[in-house]
Amino acid sequence: MIEKLPKFKGQTVEIAGWVDTIREHGKITFLEIRDLTGTVQTLTTAKDAPNFETAKSLTKESCIRIKGKVNKRPNGTENKKSPAGNVEIKIEELEVYNKCPALPFDLDNADTNEEIRLKYRYLDLRRPEMQKNLILRSRIIKVIRDVLHKKGFSEFETPILAKSTPEGARDYVVPSRTQPGKFFALPQSPQLFKQLLMVAGFEKYFQIAKCMRDEDLRSDRQPEFTQLDMEMSFASQDDIIALSEKLLQKIWKEILDIDIKIPFQRISYDKAMEKYGRDNPDLRKNKNDKKEFAFCWVVDFPAFDRSEGKGKMIATHHPFTHPEMESFNKDPITAKSIAYDIVLNGSEIGGGSIRIHEADVQAKVFEVLGIGKEEQREKFGFLLDALKFGAPPHGGIAWGLDRLVQIILGANSIRETIAFPKNKEAKDLMLDAPSPLSNQQLKDIHIKTDVPKKEKKK
Ligand code: ASP
Repeated sequence: MIEKLPKFKGQTVEIAGWVDTIREHGKITFLEIRDLTGTVQTLTTAKDAPNFETAKSLTKESCIRIKGKVNKRPNGTENKKSPAGNVEIKIEELEVYNKCPALPFDLDNADTNEEIRLKYRYLDLRRPEMQKNLILRSRIIKVIRDVLHKKGFSEFETPILAKSTPEGARDYVVPSRTQPGKFFALPQSPQLFKQLLMVAGFEKYFQIAKCMRDEDLRSDRQPEFTQLDMEMSFASQDDIIALSEKLLQKIWKEILDIDIKIPFQRISYDKAMEKYGRDNPDLRKNKNDKKEFAFCWVVDFPAFDRSEGKGKMIATHHPFTHPEMESFNKDPITAKSIAYDIVLNGSEIGGGSIRIHEADVQAKVFEVLGIGKEEQREKFGFLLDALKFGAPPHGGIAWGLDRLVQIILGANSIRETIAFPKNKEAKDLMLDAPSPLSNQQLKDIHIKTDVPKKEKKK
């Protein structure tokens, strides 16, 4: 590890990494070698003919191994940017693992066209800035796992081949080969699975979960994204809010060494709309300050919304959210729900609710949403059955992890926090996906395509 080299002054070491820069000065050639932890200057002279010739033949981003003695760099020539900038290595052995051809873009220039960066993502990810982003993401996930395990949560995986859950977007679907004409839907969230884990008695669940939503394109959305998904039995809105606050506080302390004050301010949905005209108010004093973090909770959402579609009611959060019963019994249409969003600097970074644990209330909510008895059985029979078998009261929340990491990093886009993101057309430019299937593959899954002519040319 290059960052540890200053500890090895006077000793012979072996390091492996990539050629960051090559500088030729007549009889001496300098190779700056980079690994995940930093860069170090190495050198070879014309006296050492074979290594000198090999070094001169190298190109940027070639992968090499060297062996040599670690020496202190002369005073005044240190490289302050690298943790190993005060030492250099005189090359004694040089092995080339892989030479690198001309690069498709300049790795030192972050302003490169993003499409090229995505096409050659493995090169883009070699850039120290991207490495820092992804490692920080990994550290955030570790803090989350450590805190939640300590608090008695267990992490469970839930299926990816699943059935449609009405989270409000279009489903990605997977045709079944063995059941002609039938399809799995990829989960828009693990919502119903986590509720069923509560029915099963696990009490405290979390998952770093992939969610898939085939949404209309918006510049800063990904068709697959990551949630920190949590659920607790016998928990109130206050319990879930308090847990989220403690977890966020710990992340800010561990990652940014910033003490954030809890509890966060709570604003009712009505008040937020009245005062700020939006349900994700930005409460920062100085909106350009990347170091300012203004959290708040938005609570008391209306249970249903009629504004979208043709007069059809939709659930503001999702159909499994518990309505506030006094208002629901008076008039379901104007009822409030026990739902809450966590907002940071004007972005909704998470949302959750107390769930319906009574089969009859769930059926009533389905009715309000225009889902008749037959459709209820067909789509949610398993849920209505499960709720009857002694389901505990429960609730939870999911955080959008990509956005959270983006805000912590101060990055311009969530794509800067994801190893292999899709572009704005929901394409993976590196894999060239989505891509057509062979006729045999289509036959196996009983699919005939009907591609509009214009699309075909692409
Ligand atoms: N499943 C919900 C969502 O993805 C979050 C929750 O209610 O826990 O929005």
